[in-house]
Amino acid sequence: MMNQIKIGAFISERRKAKGWTQSQLAEKLEITDKAISKWETGRSMSDLSLFMPLCTLLDVTLNELFAGECIAEEKLKEKADKVLMDVITNWLGHDKWESKESDTTPENVLEVENVSKLYETENNSVLAVNDVSFQIPHGSFVGIMGASGSGKTTLLNLIATIDKPTNGSIRISGQNIVDIPDEATAEFRRRHLGFVFQEYNLLETLTIYENIALALTIKEVSKESIRPTIQSLSEKLDISAILDKFPYEVSGGQRQRCACARAIVVNPDIILADEPTGALDSHAARQLLDTLAMLCREYGATILMVTHDVMAASYCDRILFMKDGEIKAALNREQENKQTFFADILKKIEWIEGESHDVLEVVNP
Ligand code: ADP
Ligand code: MG
Repeated sequence: MMNQIKIGAFISERRKAKGWTQSQLAEKLEITDKAISKWETGRSMSDLSLFMPLCTLLDVTLNELFAGECIAEEKLKEKADKVLMDVITNWLGHDKWESKESDTTPENVLEVENVSKLYETENNSVLAVNDVSFQIPHGSFVGIMGASGSGKTTLLNLIATIDKPTNGSIRISGQNIVDIPDEATAEFRRRHLGFVFQEYNLLETLTIYENIALALTIKEVSKESIRPTIQSLSEKLDISAILDKFPYEVSGGQRQRCACARAIVVNPDIILADEPTGALDSHAARQLLDTLAMLCREYGATILMVTHDVMAASYCDRILFMKDGEIKAALNREQENKQTFFADILKKIEWIEGESHDVLEVVNP
């Protein structure tokens, strides 16, 4: 269980590292100095609603706060124990989180088996996805890379129930989505999927707050818990100051983080992202990728992201490389850091490109 004294000492250490007095931290959190002093000596714990702002201020993750120490990135998942799940469950105010932990949840959130998609037009046909199979385990961040026209968007649309495969099966949390009748797909998407696309993410006539709240209204979430849920999540995603603005009034990066908030708030089985950083400058892109990685780490989200950007891909746990509608290779990020993974991805792309030249030379000697 939680060690209050250790956590208190950790808060104190992080506060001092920031160069703040107890009163300065108290002021930022709009609470009394006394409360801070009590936490730091382990005599009391912060109120649930203050955990996230406290983490943000001290630059630590929720896991780290509860562990009372800084945790190496690879160990984060291990440390996300029952305590953390309980707190998040309470904090988000609904119990959907627990269902993911139950025995009935299959280990793979997504199972794609021998999926093909043939587009047929009057004078030609394109095999956009060619006999693709892969699985995505719960809680992982998987990237799909490939040149333009390699079939990435088509594959994502098949998984998103926006399009139907010509062959094969796609299971999301055990359900074969190919069997879902057309009239039920919209409802399935709202309940089971989160989307972060390059554009058209938010409804322009609603405020940011309303966009997020709209997603929540389809879940069985009590009216009273909607506002606190959105507020806490917004703080974590650094969008609390813009909740009352309209999408066109905020930056691209802020819009994408709002899309992340809207996606995660319903606790979807999987979040699908198609080139989410495509329209962002590199600073905003990094911020968004950090946000997506954080959603996996701290909220147990499962993410499938299409990208052609190696920097974006280096944030993933696993990369699938597509070419001509097929998955030609896969790469796992084992214990290595982003930089090493980045280099590995580059090498793999080079290898795949090289392979194509070989093939071309054989075909046209
Ligand atoms: P990517 O997202 O990797 O750029 P796409 O999935 O958009 O690739 O496209 C893969 C191939 O399928 C391309 O050759 C493209 O022209 C073709 N394609 C995509 N959508 C359609 C469609 N609706 N009708 C016909 N062909 C399509
Ligand atoms: Mg595309």
